[in-house]
Amino acid sequence: MGTTLRIGVHASSRGAGIAAIEAALEAVQFTDSLLSTWRDDSELARLNHMPPGQTAPVPPTLAPILAEVVRWSRATGGAFDPAVGALVDAWDARGGGRVPTGEELARALERSGAGAIELSADGRTWRRTADGAWLDSGGFGKGAALAAARDSLAAHGVGSALLDFGGQVLALGPDTAGGAWSVPVAHPARRLEPVARLALRDRSASTSSQSERFVEVGGRRYGHIFDPRTGRPVPAWGSVTVVARDPLLADILSTALLVLGPEAALAWARERPEIGVLVLEDRGGRVRSRWSPGLEAFLVQDSTLVRGG
Ligand code: AMP
Ligand code: MG
Repeated sequence: MGTTLRIGVHASSRGAGIAAIEAALEAVQFTDSLLSTWRDDSELARLNHMPPGQTAPVPPTLAPILAEVVRWSRATGGAFDPAVGALVDAWDARGGGRVPTGEELARALERSGAGAIELSADGRTWRRTADGAWLDSGGFGKGAALAAARDSLAAHGVGSALLDFGGQVLALGPDTAGGAWSVPVAHPARRLEPVARLALRDRSASTSSQSERFVEVGGRRYGHIFDPRTGRPVPAWGSVTVVARDPLLADILSTALLVLGPEAALAWARERPEIGVLVLEDRGGRVRSRWSPGLEAFLVQDSTLVRGG
């Protein structure tokens, strides 16, 4: 998945801990074999290469993940668009980057969004409607992998663990001292500089931002997250961190809410107390922070963060 994964577990013995970590890594590798679009032999890559118009069954291991993705794509009004592949290609976001012509952009917009790949609500059948349309797991693969790792650790009797998957964290059970795991949230433009701290237990925290990955064309930076309404990269306004029980959901929502922008993201989260949302706006080096009611329980109040500051 092009990133690093760190796993720490508390176990009854060294051997039990190592066995649990090995099994968790296998669960992550299995998820990669389902979802990777960086190789041709994953289940998703196979579906992405199906001839347009042909209906195909989705393997039962993959279907529940895709069903969840479709569900939250709808619940975010399409801001989360797993069929963003044609836009990724149009902007060459996986290569050196390029700015598409108006015609190319229109073509890519036609090949992305809800109509580009028809998936049944249960995720079990798939139909690609056009050449050039493909489903990109970049926005939810890490979350799906962390969910698989969590299930594997539980099956190995691990009740306390911290997993860090290139920015998305999963905190299971209590930490060494029996409290919540302390998880830093970075400055929206400077990844190494923490600006807030979360206290998490049986929760995942996922952060999305445009400064995390981008391409440069003609001296301008274009981030890797696209607004499906315009087909253009979302402006680099800051970052969104989502805290949820389900790592897959946290991953999906941090991407979706970055697309919606700070105001709409907070409005969306206001009615959902089971989800915590932290919005950090980068205002020329100064960070303006706002959060949803669902985040209150996780935000360490002695952190340097000041509401609206
Ligand atoms: P994340 O880092 O989890 O926010 O995911 C970003 C990745 O998701 C990008 O690198 C693309 O692969 C993919 N992506 C870009 N725009 C969208 C979007 N609007 N909805 C879903 N996935 C997207
Ligand atoms: Mg995501």
